[in-house]
Amino acid sequence: MELWVLGANGTYPTAGRPTAGYLVSHGDTRVWIDAGSGTFGALLELIDPIDLDAVIVSHMHVDHCADLFPLYHYLRFGPGRRPPLPLIVPGGATERLSAFLDSGGGSHLTEAFAPRTPQPDEVIDVGGIAFRFGPSDHPVPTLQVRAETGGRSLAYSADTGTGSDLARLAAGANTLLAEATFSGHDKPAPHHLTATEAGEIASRAGVERLILTHLLPTLDPQQAIAEAAAVFSGDVMVAAPNLEVLI
Ligand SMILES: [Zn+2]
Repeated sequence: MELWVLGANGTYPTAGRPTAGYLVSHGDTRVWIDAGSGTFGALLELIDPIDLDAVIVSHMHVDHCADLFPLYHYLRFGPGRRPPLPLIVPGGATERLSAFLDSGGGSHLTEAFAPRTPQPDEVIDVGGIAFRFGPSDHPVPTLQVRAETGGRSLAYSADTGTGSDLARLAAGANTLLAEATFSGHDKPAPHHLTATEAGEIASRAGVERLILTHLLPTLDPQQAIAEAAAVFSGDVMVAAPNLEVLI
């Protein structure tokens, strides 16, 4: 299984650096996880979106869902035709997307997407990758994600405070992709993690590798790595566009 980072900025994009977006692939299977601002263009550098097998959007904050809309237009009006693309979203997202996309005459959401919300403990198979989900600690419904195939596993925190059960969802995973919006002791918003908190969760989960993501663009990545590494003994790295990792 491979992880491609399309974008990893927390909250807002900067030049050449989209917000959250990741492509997970295994064999011919391709799953786009989070569609932050700028990630659709980054995705086009890698694949034809027609070849996606599913899209997972962790939550409906714009730094995670904004580029669903260019994908929607691509699927409706671009070249190539295929059945609606599976779209895995948290509760309430389908209604919000439908309302936004109703440009007069009703919503055409389901012409492009087949939306669904996973039930608690449900396992959704996408082309041989088994996806499990857990609730995040965030102000809107938010899905944390665990992907497994061939004995390898990747867990993704989405946006979260320390109040979720991420350590359980990520237990024993090869890689934990965890948000680290803040650094040091400065934590102005409770529903996010510091790099130290991400490291502590990685340590409790017993993962091999921690990839920090969703750093505020003003942070120093090396400082974030040092803070996480002080409490977690495995590999620590910071996500950045075009980073490719074998899980
Ligand atoms: Zn975010």
